[in-house]
Amino acid sequence: MLIDIDRLPKEGIHVSRDFEFLSVELVEENAVFLEPTRADVLVQRVGEEIWIKGRVSSRLSFVCSRCLTPFEFPIDSKFDLVYMPEEMAAGKDELNDEDMDRMFYSDRNIDLRSVILEQLNLTFPPKPLCSEACEGICAVCGELIRDGTCACLVKESDFRFEKLKFLVKDKS
Ligand SMILES: [Zn+2]
Ligand SMILES: [Zn+2]
Repeated sequence: MLIDIDRLPKEGIHVSRDFEFLSVELVEENAVFLEPTRADVLVQRVGEEIWIKGRVSSRLSFVCSRCLTPFEFPIDSKFDLVYMPEEMAAGKDELNDEDMDRMFYSDRNIDLRSVILEQLNLTFPPKPLCSEACEGICAVCGELIRDGTCACLVKESDFRFEKLKFLVKDKS
């Protein structure tokens, strides 16, 4: 969805629509869309700058990086961006820290689809977790620890208990 910045009305335009992205377009490898990505944005031109303000929401399925279980990840993120013409970046030998946050457009237009996709990708955690407390998978048996299916600890304590009973018996 290309926005021709020379044809933007003074008051800007409101875009409220769904975007369909592919899983391969996401930075997270094991993510699957559970619903389309909703975007609500206001695009305004201020001089040569393009201001894009709004929110993006979606629902995805991620795979927990500890226990490898798929879990639902809702997204609802606000953003406030300023794009500048690419010509303003050219001619500068070095970019200072302030420039690192700046974004640029070229060819007098802005592809709103890639803007939304970028914002969506920015909301992803570097390591998705089903919960902060996820204990992952048992290194001994490979079962999920939180399900209680892992019997490794139980076996160990049972063994100690047996020993204890034996000692008690001995004393009597
Ligand atoms: Zn997990
Ligand atoms: Zn185990």
